[in-house]
Amino acid sequence: MNPSPSHKAAPSSGQPPPQYYTSLEPFAGAFTQGLPMLTYHKLGPRPARVRLKGLYVGEALFRRQMRELMQAGYQSVLPADVAGARSQESRRIAITFDDGFENVLRHGLEPLREARFHAIQFLVPGRIGGSNAWEEAEGEATERLMDASQIREWLAAGHSIGAHTCTHPHLTRIPLAEAREEIRSSRLQLEDLFRVPVRDFCYPYGDYNPAVRDLVEEAGFTTACTTEAGVNRSGSDRLQLRRFTARYASRNWKNLLRWFRSTARRS
Ligand SMILES: [Zn+2]
Repeated sequence: MNPSPSHKAAPSSGQPPPQYYTSLEPFAGAFTQGLPMLTYHKLGPRPARVRLKGLYVGEALFRRQMRELMQAGYQSVLPADVAGARSQESRRIAITFDDGFENVLRHGLEPLREARFHAIQFLVPGRIGGSNAWEEAEGEATERLMDASQIREWLAAGHSIGAHTCTHPHLTRIPLAEAREEIRSSRLQLEDLFRVPVRDFCYPYGDYNPAVRDLVEEAGFTTACTTEAGVNRSGSDRLQLRRFTARYASRNWKNLLRWFRSTARRS
């Protein structure tokens, strides 16, 4: 598909893009400067009593975001493709999901298929088929993680998997020997279970330091994703890749309408 002629790049100088990704326009300029990557966590409706609401992106918004990128001429690539990130005309983007939530399979497969995008899920092998224990410990709402057969379904749909440690610890807060095991064994477990090479890593909480980075390299990973915002150039350290976090649009018309209705009820 050719890039849509109506797609105009935002000025590359001037204001930096917003902190969170909701639509292409404010990012169009930044996206020409290197390989952009988007971070998603959970898709679909938010259950009651969710603490971090921003980590949920509704299916309709997700579909709109994928469709918009496709219509602007973007093609999806994997983190390892950062080496081929040239500039300007290359319209490539990596779609990443952290943690391996079941709701991504339920609400994400179809919009990804429609846009002909391939995404990567960073999995926590010690929690496969379980739930987000590391978030529940902080009082967060429970969400199911994909089980092994669902992960096979994800792979069969043409998507990829990467590792996100075995149990999702803060890697800089545990002894180095433990961090080494969390990193190394997450790769081995995933390769054993799914019989695919696992070369991409993602730091839980974006928490890492030079020693942790080196452990990831030692474990045989060729890329690692952080939570730092920005695009990646071919000279970027592949073990410190930057990503933009996607969130729901907090000030869209629906929210405004909800706000109007609630004030009308109150008055
Ligand atoms: Zn995570």
